[in-house]
Amino acid sequence: MANSLSGRVVIIGGGFAGLAAGVRLSERGYEVLVLERRNHLGGRAYSFIDSKTGDVVDNGQHLFMGCYHHTIAFLETIGRLDRLKFQQRPRVDFLDSAHGFTSFDCPPLPAPLNVLAGLLKMKGLGVGDKLRAFNVGRAIKRNGKLSPDALTVDQWLDQLGQSARIKTRFWNPMVVATLNQSPDIASARMLKVVLQEAFGGDSKSANIGISRVGLSDLYTDGATDFIRARGGDVQTGAQVQRLIVEGGRVTAVELRDGERIEAADYFISAVPPTALFAMLPDELRSKEFSSLEKLGSSPIVSINLWFDRPVIDREFVGLLGTRSQWIFNKDLLLSPDKRSNQIAVIISAARDFVDWTRDALVEMALSDLHELLPESRSAVLLHSAIVKEREATLSHTVESDKLRLGPRTSIPNLILAGDWTDTGLPATIESAVMSGDVAAEVIDA
Ligand SMILES: Cc1cc2nc3c(=O)[nH]c(=O)nc-3n(C[C@H](O)[C@H](O)[C@H](O)COP(=O)(O)OP(=O)(O)OC[C@H]3O[C@@H](n4cnc5c(N)ncnc54)[C@H](O)[C@@H]3O)c2cc1C
Repeated sequence: MANSLSGRVVIIGGGFAGLAAGVRLSERGYEVLVLERRNHLGGRAYSFIDSKTGDVVDNGQHLFMGCYHHTIAFLETIGRLDRLKFQQRPRVDFLDSAHGFTSFDCPPLPAPLNVLAGLLKMKGLGVGDKLRAFNVGRAIKRNGKLSPDALTVDQWLDQLGQSARIKTRFWNPMVVATLNQSPDIASARMLKVVLQEAFGGDSKSANIGISRVGLSDLYTDGATDFIRARGGDVQTGAQVQRLIVEGGRVTAVELRDGERIEAADYFISAVPPTALFAMLPDELRSKEFSSLEKLGSSPIVSINLWFDRPVIDREFVGLLGTRSQWIFNKDLLLSPDKRSNQIAVIISAARDFVDWTRDALVEMALSDLHELLPESRSAVLLHSAIVKEREATLSHTVESDKLRLGPRTSIPNLILAGDWTDTGLPATIESAVMSGDVAAEVIDA
């Protein structure tokens, strides 16, 4: 690297958080260097080419939402927003063996009327179940009474009179999908945030957005080009081994190959908690960063299957009563002109499945498909590819809410970013991008 320049920032981590910070700082005239450990960018949201079929496979299906304001602005800035397609109104189809398909389909009415109308049409729920769901909305508005703070989702929903049926058929799938944690563990406070963000804002907030290209193609090249065009750089295969802290400031980062990068005014850590902990000097690990060790994670398993014929004609479906939770029709989502008959079967909060063998996971997914989609019984499985993300997201427990760290540290030129930092949002893409934006603001303040 060249000698020290004022306004030079080293960003450790090339996922959504690090790249968003890099883009925002480049925009403000800072010279940015992003260092990414792996040989590709994207962190926990990336895609790769399947060697057998040549098809694009995401490391896990990612859903965006209309309330992802930071993410939408980031994609717009790097000129990639057109690769994300949003629904015109919130709609999620569910499928179970007893009722077939049913939809949570919210008409274009102001919230919460759209939610009421969406719920009223759902099959498999009684009128009482549906009306009692509004206790949840009222509890959020009343703020204070029946507060979700310090409660698990299960406890909070019980207190609000939610029946086992509406929990199984509506709340629990939503909680597992949005918080990647099971309701008996998940933080009710975080569910409240999800509901407020999705249904408390404008009518587009709950619209689901899905990338029409592989995840890496959605943002990694665009962000890299943006940063490079403004004098910065993005390096892969550059693992930071440790932060060198001298005289109360970070003076350098040392890479795995021993190279030291010194010439920077600020250093942003945009890596997960365990990776940050590993880079810190011993004296810091035991003090303000000790909570990093207590932040747990929760896995997601994706079972990608290729058949000899189509098995489903919808873009995505939530499965009820099976171990597989979602099916995504990758043909319809990624390449409507190409017929690969590729689907992704997703299991979030997958701690009971993450150690299963590849064969056992495929067998389980097939048995769930055969149960719910009779046409799949005659389809021949041609190929499969499993992706296990063991540390997919922060484990959103009641305790973890208090352990997340803010962007500023006791070291003035060390700023923290990453989905897990204390953004007030669940650890999602939006939290990651927001944390990158905030890190840039802290530096530029
Ligand atoms: C399967 C799956 C499904 C998901 N689904 C959704 C979804 O539907 N919607 C949603 O909003 N979110 C979803 N998420 C969460 C989302 O992917 C993350 O919140 C987001 O990608 C986190 O971005 P980040 O930049 O904070 O962290 P990361 O993506 O983890 O980026 C950190 C980067 O730092 C690098 N790094 C680590 N250590 C070092 C080091 N020492 N030196 C240099 N680089 C280092 C890593 O390699 C990584 O690239 C999902 C996650 C997974 C895994």
